[in-house]
Amino acid sequence: MEVTEKSGFYVYSDVELDKNEGIQIEALKTASQNSIPDPDRWLDEETQRNILLTSLDAILNWARRSSLWPVVCFPACCAFELIATAASRFDISRFGMEVIRASPRQADVMITAGTLTWKMAPNVRRIYEQMAEPKWVIAMGACAISGGTFAQSYSVVPGYNRIIPVDVYIPGCPPRPEALLHGIRMLHNKIAKQSIKQEAGK
Ligand code: SF4
Repeated sequence: MEVTEKSGFYVYSDVELDKNEGIQIEALKTASQNSIPDPDRWLDEETQRNILLTSLDAILNWARRSSLWPVVCFPACCAFELIATAASRFDISRFGMEVIRASPRQADVMITAGTLTWKMAPNVRRIYEQMAEPKWVIAMGACAISGGTFAQSYSVVPGYNRIIPVDVYIPGCPPRPEALLHGIRMLHNKIAKQSIKQEAGK
């Protein structure tokens, strides 16, 4: 290679530089005849089609939130919006919730659709206690949240959270089906964040 030294610097001739570059490119070309395998393709086709990687929490929470089973709890007028939500126009069967269970032992979500009186409160709490774990509660409407219009009444429970834990609150008197669907989606998001480890530590 033609190299001259000028003022303390080595100077390569242009021809030599081009020639060397050409040699390097040719070497790379020769070594690159086949494409490099995709790093994700280390499994054979059959195996790739049959393996799904996930966490235990994710799969369990997906299964739980995809088929919540509501228990009957319709003490007052909000019930009609819940019934409308279960009908074909709003269709909660897409969430696996279309059958409202008559037995708390076959249910894991309580949608408290209506005013609760103290006289009924022990029975509602008993229904909640008989539900299968893990279980959730959606307080539907002003009466369920705080007693609503009847909050100051001697006979009305000022919110279901006085007697059972509530996961999601849906305001309104009554809330429309769209609001109930939004509340159900909020509960889904809450369930998606649960962890078996935390449940075991309860
Ligand atoms: S919030 Fe309104 S619609 Fe719902 S139970 Fe109370 S009074 Fe009835």
